[in-house]
Parts: sequence; structure tokens; C-alpha cells
Amino acid sequence: MTFTSLRHWLSEIEKRGLLKQVNRRVSLKYELAAVGKKADGRYALRFNNVEKATMPVVTGILGSRELIALAMGVTREKVLDHFARAQANPGQCVLVSADDAPVKEKVTHRVDLGSLPAPIHHEKDGGPYLTAGVLVAKDPVTGVRNVSIHRLQVLGPNRLGILILPRHLFQFFRAAEAAGRPLEVAVAIGLDPLLLLASQALTPPGCDEFTIAGALYGRPLELVKCETVDLEVPARAEIVLEGRLLPGVREMEGPFGEYPKYYGPASPRPVVEVTAMSSCRDPIYHTIIPATMEHLLLGAIPRESGLLQIIRNAVPNVVNVHLTPGGGCRYHVVVSIDKQNEGEAKNAIFAALSSSQEIKHVVVVDKDVDIFNSVDVEWAVATRCQAGRDVFIIERALGNRLDPSSDDGLSDKMGIDATIPLNAESGRFEKIRIPGEDAIKLEDYIE
Ligand code: MN
Repeated sequence: MTFTSLRHWLSEIEKRGLLKQVNRRVSLKYELAAVGKKADGRYALRFNNVEKATMPVVTGILGSRELIALAMGVTREKVLDHFARAQANPGQCVLVSADDAPVKEKVTHRVDLGSLPAPIHHEKDGGPYLTAGVLVAKDPVTGVRNVSIHRLQVLGPNRLGILILPRHLFQFFRAAEAAGRPLEVAVAIGLDPLLLLASQALTPPGCDEFTIAGALYGRPLELVKCETVDLEVPARAEIVLEGRLLPGVREMEGPFGEYPKYYGPASPRPVVEVTAMSSCRDPIYHTIIPATMEHLLLGAIPRESGLLQIIRNAVPNVVNVHLTPGGGCRYHVVVSIDKQNEGEAKNAIFAALSSSQEIKHVVVVDKDVDIFNSVDVEWAVATRCQAGRDVFIIERALGNRLDPSSDDGLSDKMGIDATIPLNAESGRFEKIRIPGEDAIKLEDYIE
């Protein structure tokens, strides 16, 4: 089954006991985020009674690897290759009329962003933030669409502050601003998991991320024209904001609690002036609580998918990769290989480090280690690694500025080879084993 709307997805995970209802009254200031965080990685939550809100709020809708596999319709082991295939073989988008687009059931040109239940997530956040908005824009030169998620601070009834990191939207806005023109944007909130994941694909410029969603669906993504801007948005979004990034305008945005579990500082940043809002009759609002598994996995799956292909080019017998939650699903990667030649672990480390400036520490283990189990990985580092021989450090390469230990982005990189030497004497690294253990069910033995 393919889930091409948020509500279809919610009904499926509720059937499976993975979505819980919260009927108790909760505050948008801290309380909603605090409750959501308690359920992190276990349940999605639907808050039905949010203070001052006219609509329910959901969070944690793709908070585990099992949920992502379910959304893709594949086993957990196939998720990364499935995503890579969709990215390599983009699908289609199809334009539908407003009559066939649920998001057009209500349209208003007198926007009050205060009507949206945007939470204040963390103690020092600069205000309420929209965190699950998928932003659509077109390259002012080529007209090619780009799709990306940005944190958006509610600054006024029709104004949003935005953080634009130097990727594709940044180029579009720079070109528009240089010409003294606004850049039209639309922000879709309340989307299905595959569309959210597609928006996070690491693509070259000129790739329309919506076509990756079409490939993940296995059928065209339905889009509908906006009211006040020349853009198309998902017809089954719950809510769409339309507006313009204003040239030459900067207002204070931040601070904001980010994925590395630190605050991104406040700074003057670009502003979106909102010109229209559309929604379905009874919209459901989606918020992503920063640094939860939902947030981290949205970034991790596309990154791991790309990383696996890059390492495979260098070390064909790579088995799997894991960007660990402790590293914010950005800075730490564990790689398992089916080692055939001495030195392959180091080559896998080079490949991983060169794949992205974000990656800081790489651990390579043998395929008998469960890379999703941090105790197992630590055991491999403890018993299969000698630091003088197996650890190497490259000083002051380019890293991530959000890592507070970096020197304005300059960051040391480390590789740890925790694989067994191929010439080790027989039996020296034999893992202890109890015959029959795997087949035993504890419930059969205890009262
Ligand atoms: Mn892009």
C-alpha cells in the first residue's frame, strides 16, 4: 500500500497501535514538545486538545526505522537501497485542478499565522516555529523547482523568519535579491512520510525533489497551482502557505534548539511575507520536535543512502552504514564491511569522510557486529582496535558549524578501524556462543 497523504498514514499507524491520542489539554509553550519527546521513537502522538488551537497537532509520524520501512513498503534492510533507487530513477508529478485538491477546500488571503498551532519547543527558542513545512521555490534563472525544509519563526501575522543554509534555495534567493526582486515560495505542512523524506534527498542543483516522491510512491505525485504565486504544491497537503522572500529585508531569527541538541544563535535573517493560506476543511497540523528521532531520521535516511553508494564504490564489500543518533545522525557513522583485504577499513573511512563535510568520526566494524547496537559497536572498538595502529586523525578539515567544538567550522576528523586483522591466529577472536541460545524463547521458561 502507498500512503500519499498524512491522514491515510495516520490511520494506518493507528491501526498498528503506533499512534496514540492525547485528549488532555496541553500548552503550545513547552508542554506539547515535552510530551512528544517522552514518546520519541515509540509512538506518534495526536494532540486533540491544544490550548488556543483550532486544529489537532501530530508529531513523531516517522520516528523509527520500522515506520520508515513501513511507509516505503520494504523491509528495514532494504530502506537505503530503495531510497537510492528512487533518487536515481525519478518519478512523475501530475497537475490536478483545485476541485480535485483537498488543500483547496479553504482559501484565505487575509492570513493570520497565529491561527496555526506552532509550538515553542525549547526553553531559549526565539518564539513559535513551523518545523515541518516543506518549502517549494523555482530557480529564477532556469525555472526548475526545488523542495526543502527550513525552520520558520513566526514573527508576525503574515511574516516568517527563515534560516537558509547555503544550498539550492540559497542560490535562488541570492539571484533574485541581486536583481532586486522577491522570490516566490510556498510552504506545505501536513504531508505523508515519503514526501517528507524525498524533500531531504541530497541532490545536485536542478533536481526537483518532488519527482523523487513520485518514484517512492510508484505513481505520480499530485500537485495543484497556488493562488498568489506561480508555484505548484502537493494537492493532499493539510495546509499551504504562499508568500515571497523579500529582497534586502532581514529581521532577527532565533535562537532555535537544533538537531545537535544545542541552540543555533539568533541573527538577522531573510523574511517571508505570507500572501495566502489554503487548507483542507479540517486540517491536521504537523510539528517536528527538534533533535527527536523523527527529526534525526529525516536527515539520516537520505544521507545513509548516499553514503552507502559512495563507500560501495571504494569498498564493494561494504555491508551497511549507520549514522548514529548520539552523533545527531550527522557526525558519527558506523560502517560494517565483509573484509576481504587488509586496508579496506581505512579505505571505507576515507570514502565516508570525503562524502560530506558533516561526518566527523568513522568506526568500521566486521559484519558480525550489529551497527545499530551501540554496545556491540563499543565492544568491537574495545576488543578489535589498538589505537596506535587503528586510529588516525586528520586535523582541521572542513566540518559543520553547528558543532560547537569546531573552530568556526574547522574540525578534526577521526577514523577507527575496529575490524579483526585478517592474519589473526585462528580462535583468537572467536566470539563466545551458547549452542541453542538463538532458538530459545524466554516466555517458554518463566511463569
Ligand atoms: Mn535541492
